[in-house]
Amino acid sequence: MNRDVRMKGFAQRADVDEVERFLAAHVRALAAEPVPLLECVGRVLAGDVSSAVDVPGFPRSAMDGYAVRGEDTFGASELDPLALELSGESMPGRRFEGSLGPRQAVRIMTGAPVPDGADAVIMAEVCSEEDGRVVVRDAVAPLKNVGAVGEDIRAGDAVLAAGRRVRPQDAGLLSSIGVGEVVCHRRPRVKLVVTGDELLPAGSVPSGAHIVDSNSVVLRGLVARDGGVALPFEIVRDDREVIRDAIADADADVVLVSGGSSVGKEDHAPGIVAELGSLDFHGVAMRPSSPAGIGRIGERFVFLLPGNPVSCLCAYEFFAGPAIRVLGGRPSAWPHRQVRLPLARKITSAIGRVDYVRVTVEDGRVIPIATSGASILSSTVRASGAVVVPRGREGMPEGEAVDVFLYDDAPMSTSAT
Ligand code: AMP
Ligand code: MG
Repeated sequence: MNRDVRMKGFAQRADVDEVERFLAAHVRALAAEPVPLLECVGRVLAGDVSSAVDVPGFPRSAMDGYAVRGEDTFGASELDPLALELSGESMPGRRFEGSLGPRQAVRIMTGAPVPDGADAVIMAEVCSEEDGRVVVRDAVAPLKNVGAVGEDIRAGDAVLAAGRRVRPQDAGLLSSIGVGEVVCHRRPRVKLVVTGDELLPAGSVPSGAHIVDSNSVVLRGLVARDGGVALPFEIVRDDREVIRDAIADADADVVLVSGGSSVGKEDHAPGIVAELGSLDFHGVAMRPSSPAGIGRIGERFVFLLPGNPVSCLCAYEFFAGPAIRVLGGRPSAWPHRQVRLPLARKITSAIGRVDYVRVTVEDGRVIPIATSGASILSSTVRASGAVVVPRGREGMPEGEAVDVFLYDDAPMSTSAT
C-alpha cells in the first residue's frame, strides 16, 4: 500500500482481526541463544531440558538420628530398649566410608548419605549414646526416613519443556541437576522512534507550548513486561529525513514509532515505511488508535503508534505487544489477568470497529470511565483495566458480564485516586 494518504484521510481501515491474522502468519520466535543459569529466570526456553543425573544421587537421610538396619530394631521399646554398636558418623557432604554390619548404627544428619548396609534412619529423639553404644527405644521399619536415589528427579526425566517461561523454582531445579546454562529465545530488541517537535525528554518539566514525552516511558514499561529489550533512543524532530534515518538505521527486531502516524502534513512515518519496506496496514477500524500502522522493513517489524497517549498504549497492546511476545517465544495472548464481571453502565460503540474501553472495577461491577479521549492519559491511571468491545457489537448493555483485562497482576493494596 504505497498510496500517500497525507491530508486525504483513510479511504479504508483494516479490521483488527485482519491485522492479528497477518501478525500470526508472519511473526516467529527469534533464534535461540545460551543463557547463564543465574540469568534465566523469566526467559523462555527454546528447547526441552532433561536430566542427566538422579537427584538425590545417593540414598539420603531425611532425619537427624542413626542409620540402622530396620530389622535390628524390631522389638525395641521404651520398656525394653536395645543397644547397637556405634560405628561412625555420616554428615552432609561427608559420607561414612564403609558399610554397616548387623547390630551396628551410624550417627547421621539430615541430608547425609545413608551408608551401605543400612536401610533406615531412626530419629535421634528415641535414642541415646552410652559408652560407644546407641540405645534404641523404638523400632523403625526398613526404608523409613530414607530418601531414595532419584526420588526427586530420575536421570533421563524430562524436567522442563520448550516454551516454558523459567520460574525461580525452575532455575533452582536446573541448578540441582547440574545445568549451568540453558538455551532460550533471544529477547526482541526494540527501537523507539519518538517523534514530535513539541516534546521534551522524560525528566523535563513541561513549559510553554512543550509537553513532556510520556509515550516512551509507557512503551519501555510495556516492552519490558513483554520480554523485549528497549534500546536507547532520542526524540526526533518532525522532519522527514531525520525520521527516515531513525527508522532506517534501527538495528532492532521491532521498531515502535510514536506519533506522526496519521494522515496530517507532518505525518511522515507511513510514507517512510512504505518506501523502505512495506506498509502492510495503515488505518485500523478501532477506537482509539485508528491511525495505527503496521509494516516491515527487511526482517524488522515496524509499528506506527499514534501519538495520543491512550492511542499509543492501545495500539501497542493490540499489535506490537503480541508481536514482541511471540518473537521472544511467549504466547501472543494478552498477558493481563482477566475477570468476568457485570457492567454497571452500558458501553456504547459502533458496529464495524473495535473499542478499547477503560474501566474501573468497584464492588464487583465494571464501570466505564466517562472521559475517554485518546489524549487523556490519566484515564488509564484511574482505570483498573480495559474492556474490548468486538467489531460486531453496537455496544454492551448494563448488566452484561464482560471480560476485563486488568492492568495489575495482583490486587493492589492502594489504588490511584
Ligand atoms: P501525533 O500522533 O504525532 O499527531 O500526536 C498526537 C497527539 O499526541 C499530540 O497532541 C501530541 O502532542 C501527543 N503526543 C505525541 N507524542 C507524544 C509523546 N511521546 N508523549 C506524549 N504525548 C505525545
Ligand atoms: Mg506528532
